[in-house]
Amino acid sequence: MFTDAQNWRKKVGLDELYKNIDPFDYLEREAVFNCWPMWFHKTDKQGRPLNFHFLGGLDLERLNKEGVTPERHWETVLVNAECLTREILPAAARKYEKEIDSVFVIVDLKGFGLSKFWQMKNLAQRSFQISQDYYPETMGRLAILNAPSSFTLIWNVIRPWLAKETANKVDILGPDYREKLLESIDEENLPWAVGGKCRCETEDGHEGPRCHLSANGPWLDGRAGWGPNAQKAQTNVSEKSNEIGDPSESKNSTNRQRIQDSDAQSIYANRASEVEQVKEEQLEASSAV
Ligand SMILES: [Zn+2]
Repeated sequence: MFTDAQNWRKKVGLDELYKNIDPFDYLEREAVFNCWPMWFHKTDKQGRPLNFHFLGGLDLERLNKEGVTPERHWETVLVNAECLTREILPAAARKYEKEIDSVFVIVDLKGFGLSKFWQMKNLAQRSFQISQDYYPETMGRLAILNAPSSFTLIWNVIRPWLAKETANKVDILGPDYREKLLESIDEENLPWAVGGKCRCETEDGHEGPRCHLSANGPWLDGRAGWGPNAQKAQTNVSEKSNEIGDPSESKNSTNRQRIQDSDAQSIYANRASEVEQVKEEQLEASSAV
């Protein structure tokens, strides 16, 4: 299993990819999280990171329209998965000074119908497969929100058949999930969208809750980052420190971005077959809608 994971990492050029895409800071990030809303946000009472999946917000067609190609999207899915073991879990463990090796996954089914299911089926299957094969046992608990009542009924039948440890990891909840979530998550850490108090609003002119973009949590404590915003901030600092200010600085950062893009191009080439498959699946998905 270990060698499999090593081979897979090499095959997809994961280390290189991670250098090129900062999971918390890349150009298309807002578009990705608006249309593929699966993100990390704060922690539960035990210190486990929360991982939200708002399946009703899925919109791969819009993602494409916003200029995010299926290749690029798949790369962001990969770095998002990678940051779990590379940054998210270690940071939570550091903050709470104990071993934390799993996350609390919260899947909201509100607005999730058949057409969205067909859109995401293949991609979701691929990303779940990757989690299972290469990042095993990182799901400590799963809560499904807004499950249709038929789903809840079936779960009540199935639950006793499962091993207790497995069954205890899963909660299938209807629309009245709030109290149950608050048993294990502080109100301040729970996003407003699912009945909590957190809105992650910024002061930079953006209105409305931004929990889906903030990536708020201990993993951001003291983190410098290497994406375009970090580069811009660096440029600003060096411009301020120069008495006259050097206009070539901002040009440099554009060049850096360009160099990164060309690195990314070579990664695409190395993964041509995988990318082709993703494209086919996307086409399949959009024709199924
Ligand atoms: Zn928030």
